[in-house]
Parts: sequence; C-alpha cells; structure tokens
Amino acid sequence: MEAILSEVFGLTAESIQQLEGYDNRNFLIESNGIKYVLKDYRFDKNLEMYLQSESEFLDFLSDKGEFPKVISSLKGNSQEIINDRIYRLLTFIEGDLFASIKGDESYLESFGKKIAQLHKSSIDYYDPKLLARIDNRWDLKNLHLCEPFFEDCQDPKERKFLKYFYQQFEQNVLPKYADLRKSVIHGDINEHNVLVNSNEVKTFFDFGDVNYGPLVYDLAIALTYIALNYNDSIGAVTSVVRAYHSVYELEEKELDMLYYLIAARLVQSLSNAANSSKIQPENKEYITVNSASARFLIEEWTSINPIYFRNKMYEACGKQLLDLKSVNEEIDRRNKSISKALSVSNLAIKGAAFQYMYGENGKTYLDLRNNIPHVGHCHPDVVEANAKMQFKLNTNTRYVYPELADYAEQLLSKFPSNLNKVYFVNSGSAAGDLALRIAQTVTGRSGVGILEQGYHGNTYRMIEVSHYKYGSKGGFDQKKNVVKFPMPWNYEVVMGAKAKDQLIDLALTELNRNTEIGAFIAEPIVGCGGQLELPEGYLKHLYSEFKERNVLCISDEVQTGFARMGRAWWGYELYDVVPDIIVLGKCIGNGHPMAAVVTTSEISEKFTNGMEFFSSFGGNPVSCATGMAVLDVLDKEGLKDNALKIGEYLKAGLARIASKYKGVGVVRGSGFFLGVELVDENDSSLPNTSLCHKIKKELFDNQILVGSDGPEDNILKIKPPMCFTKANADQFLAAFETAVITES
Ligand code: PMP
Repeated sequence: MEAILSEVFGLTAESIQQLEGYDNRNFLIESNGIKYVLKDYRFDKNLEMYLQSESEFLDFLSDKGEFPKVISSLKGNSQEIINDRIYRLLTFIEGDLFASIKGDESYLESFGKKIAQLHKSSIDYYDPKLLARIDNRWDLKNLHLCEPFFEDCQDPKERKFLKYFYQQFEQNVLPKYADLRKSVIHGDINEHNVLVNSNEVKTFFDFGDVNYGPLVYDLAIALTYIALNYNDSIGAVTSVVRAYHSVYELEEKELDMLYYLIAARLVQSLSNAANSSKIQPENKEYITVNSASARFLIEEWTSINPIYFRNKMYEACGKQLLDLKSVNEEIDRRNKSISKALSVSNLAIKGAAFQYMYGENGKTYLDLRNNIPHVGHCHPDVVEANAKMQFKLNTNTRYVYPELADYAEQLLSKFPSNLNKVYFVNSGSAAGDLALRIAQTVTGRSGVGILEQGYHGNTYRMIEVSHYKYGSKGGFDQKKNVVKFPMPWNYEVVMGAKAKDQLIDLALTELNRNTEIGAFIAEPIVGCGGQLELPEGYLKHLYSEFKERNVLCISDEVQTGFARMGRAWWGYELYDVVPDIIVLGKCIGNGHPMAAVVTTSEISEKFTNGMEFFSSFGGNPVSCATGMAVLDVLDKEGLKDNALKIGEYLKAGLARIASKYKGVGVVRGSGFFLGVELVDENDSSLPNTSLCHKIKKELFDNQILVGSDGPEDNILKIKPPMCFTKANADQFLAAFETAVITES
C-alpha cells in the first residue's frame, strides 16, 4: 500500500489502517496530518466505468456540501489500474457514524433535510454511463435480481415475507415507475454511510451504489434503516419524511409507494445477505449484521395497514387525505344491486396479508374469523401458483393435463390408502350435493341422516339437510327423507355425564324408525352448533351402526380439514373413524373457489353407472395448481404443528380466563377451531347471548375479528388463518379478558 500511495498518489503514509468493507478493501491513511481513504478494488471493466461515474458525481457535489473529495493521481486521473486492481483516493471526513447515535430522535430532522438537500441539488445532474448499471443487486430498480436468492433463506416463514413484498412491489410500485422523478442518487443511505456531529447529521459518504433512479427509492432506502434502528419505526420514518418535505416537496405518488419501497429494501437486504453468506460463509457475521432486525421488521410490516402508513405520510407532508366514503353509503349502494338476504358487517376492507385484514379506515384487524384464507390472506406462493397457471392454461377435465393427476395424487396422499378417488367441484355446497348423489346412487336410498344444527351448504338439497338453515327463520319443516340426530350440546348440558349413552340410544331409536337412510353427513366439530365436539365414542358407535345397515358415512371437512385440528389432518381422525366419503371445501384453495369429494374406488365404481360426471370448473389446471400450492405451504411452513402448538396455547389461555370469570363457560375445540361459551353468571347452563355480542363488538372495536354461533348465538368462534402466532394469541387473550371484565 505504501508503494501505491507514493508512486501513484505521491503521498507518504504515516499510518495505514484497514477499514471494514463489503465488496472492496478500504484503508484509512494519514499523511502530513491529513486523513484519506484509499480504495482498492479488483479490476472489472464495468466497475471501472461506474467508479468513474461515482468520482464525477462527487466532483459535482464538491461545492454542494461536505462530501468526500476525489484526490487525483500523479497522472491527473480519478483512479488508476495497476496489476488488475483499481485504486482511488478520497478525502476522509471526520465525524461519528449515524449508527453510533443509537436511535436518538433529535437527529431525524437534520437527516431528512440533508437527504432532501442532496436530491434538490442533484435533480438535474445526469450521467448516461449509469444507464448501463443494470447489475447492482443493491439498487432497488434491480429488485428482480434478488428473487433467485429467496431460496437461500433457510426459514420458509422468512421466504414467505420476501415473496409477499416482492409481489407487492410488482403490483404497487413497478407500474408507476415511469412517472417517478429520477436523477443520479446515492443508492445506499444507511446508518453506516452517514456521518453526524454533536447535534445533527453532517453528510453522507460511500457513493459506491450510485445509480440513476427515482429519488423516492433513495429516500425509501434511508427510511428503511431508520425503521430498523428506531423503536417507534413509523414515528421515526414520519419525522424524516416531514423534514425532507419541508426542504423538497414530495409528490403524492411518491408517498403512496413508500410503504412498499421500505418493505422492498428489507427484501433486498435479507435476500442479498442470505445469498452472500452462502457464498462467503466466513463473512456471515458482517454480511448479516442487519438480518435479525430486518426479519423482525418485515414480519411486523405485514401488521401495518398500508392505508394507515400512507395517511401518516400525507399528514406529515400536509397533504389532503383521500375522501373516505362512509361504510353505510357503500352498503346502500351494494343493496341496490345485491340481495339483502346476504348478511353484511360494517367493515370496508381494502386488502389483507396473512392473519391481518386492512380496513379502508386505516385500521389493521387481527383475523380470528376467516378460515378460508387457510395459509394466510394473499399467501404469495398460492397467488403465484394461481396466476402463473392462468397465464398458461385454464381448461376443463375433458382435456389431458398433468396438473389434475399431480394434484389428485398429492391430495389423496393425505388420506388412508383406501380413500383413493377424488372428484373436483367449486364449492362446499356442490361437494356436499355430489356426496349425497354418490351415496344415493350406490345405496339406492335417498334418505339422509344429519346432525341437529349442522350446516352443509346453500343448494336446495344442502339446505334440506342443514338443520341450521331449514330449522331457523325463513326455513321449512324437515323433509320426509331427512333424519335428524340429536345434537350433543343439549344433552351434555341437560344430562351431564350420562349424555353419550343417552344420545346414542336416542340416535338409534331414530335410525331404527327410518330404514330409508342411505347416507349420514356430519361435521366432526359442528361449526354452526358452536364449535361443538362430538362426545368421545359417539361417532364411532354411530358409524358402526351405519356400516351394518349399509349407510354411507360422509364427513363434512369443509371447515375442519387440512390440518386445522392441529392434532390431525382431518376432523374425523379425532374420533378414530374412517368415513366412506369426505367433503372438502373452503380452505382447500385458500380462497380460490374449489372443493372436492374423496371416496373409495369401490364406491366410485358403483357411482360410474353410465351418467357422465362433469363440472365445468372443477379440477381445472388453475385450481389444481392453487390447491397444490396450499398443500405445499402447509407442509413446508409446518402449519399443522403451528395449529397444534398455538391452538393449545390459545385454548389453555381461554380456559384460564374461563376459570376466573363466571360468564365464560365451556371452552372447546381443537387446534385452530375453538369455541368459547358465554353463559349466565348465576347458571352456567343458560346461554348469555347479549354478553357474547357485547364481547364480539368490543373485540371488533379493538380491531380483532371473531364470529359467533350456536343455537343461541352465545358461542365465540375462533378459527384464524393457520399462520396465527403466539404474539397474536397473546393480543387476542388480553383483549378478550378485558372485554369480559368490562362487559360482564
Ligand atoms: N359445509 C360446511 C361445514 C360449511 O361450513 C360450509 C360453508 N360455510 C359448506 C359446507 C358450504 O360451502 P360453500 O359455501 O363453499 O358452498
């Protein structure tokens, strides 16, 4: 180094000290009492050009603030190439690193202003050489370069967030790229590239990522490191944005995308770090310096409603917030074209991610109500699989495409080997209907056994077998070929311990009176009954009676399937029985309309009586790809175990609350399919519907969504997406306990 310094730059070094560096080597030099930084790079043709650009930009900035200055070589060049290496010398600026002030808020204002000043002074600066710089994986324009590195992240949960925000970037940023203000920008204003003095931000250095790109990308990168280093991420980001805007006005379209850009930078940071530490494991510690906090923040980011974030940015910049149509106004409009037979909540939703739903009002709602987005709202793997197949092929089962058999095999692998035939349809109702049709064809009997309070779908026949519907308001008398078996709930409460035997006796009396039954359909945990588990041995006993009479047993797993039980993949497994036919729906496609009927080949052969079975949409390649992605995510993210672990934690927490307050009765269910009874404080056998409604309302006011059900509508139903976390459970349990105290 001494030789280079003296021969190339004419300096005699008094001291040489190596500094930390990512891609190149940096040395702090002292010569004649002046400090310099000597930069040493491996030669690369493109790099040579970009370094030229960097030096020219620093020259341009030399009268615009205290930036590093480029010291020319003895030959008068800004860089010299010697033995396949490039050398540059810059002045060293004294100051502490921004990283050293550790979240001190007093620096935020000067930070925002300094970035704005830099942008304002360089807005007209242009360098066509930088247009060739398309390979820098730290440039937000080149986020696509990081996509292949997602696989280098070991944790599937982390990969899910990377992919999710990558897709959000594609949706919310890229289409607007052309309209953004651009210039030559620093490209990496992180806390290690910013100097402070005693009370403000002084300047930026390390322009090694200089590029031609949108100003807002540059700002967003800086904001990402602010969000990472301050406890109140959004508060700190807001302060910087406010200060920036006071110097150089931000446009609405720029503010609109900041939420997505900050997340995109986290994606870039995590995926680049994962890839680099794979390639250079010896530097892993330095490379992944930000990874732990970035991992935490990217997950937390999903709980922030993008509308809330945008509104914060607008407020900081004194911009008018977008006019919010009232929910009632929207409901009135809806009622003009949509039947009032559909029920509606007063929540306008604009988006959702995983276990969070984003209200139009800017609030984030923790979702314990929706079990259809099974692996999480907008799960990127499912979205991607679905979209990719739409681009390729969407047709019906009359054509041959491998996705159908692939998916069928994958789905059937989750069942015992004798359940080896599957039919695809598009809704739980259509699946239930088909299951009954199969049973009738096979047995020659049209009678159906059902459970009190059961629900199986919205078609004519399904309503006939859903006591929850035909037995309630607007319903009708039970049809002749329907046999209703008593619901355990009433008996457990009324008859206590002897319930099961008496229940079975009652059921058998019913059964013996009706010889026309060909099928029995029931949910393993009766959802509309209020998450009612069947008493131990009940289903096993009934199934054996049915089998003796050649009645086909149908398990409606529309709500209980796909590992929601935690302990099992399918609800029927809880009772040690194996049904003849299984009905699947809801979560099978994570919201994509698909459903299925699974049965044995014996039954399937008997059903094949000459009449074609055809469903226009059932089993189409798009649905198959979507369903396959759901299965894949369930496995790779270990969601069955999560439902078991967090479900048990939730259930134990609820039981603890129930033991403290008389108004909270039985807690029941399995995994992420739980129910809590709200009861009369003086007589726990009496339902307390109004308490249930008040608690539900208070939870809603606290941005937590739960449903309620049961014959008296006094049971809170808990069935969150399978990615629900322990922190989510704690949030819910605390809010629930508070609601019980306030409303009891
Ligand atoms: N069975 C059960 C147990 C259900 O919960 C539902 C829907 N709530 C259905 C069947 C009908 O499914 P779909 O609404 O997809 O027709």
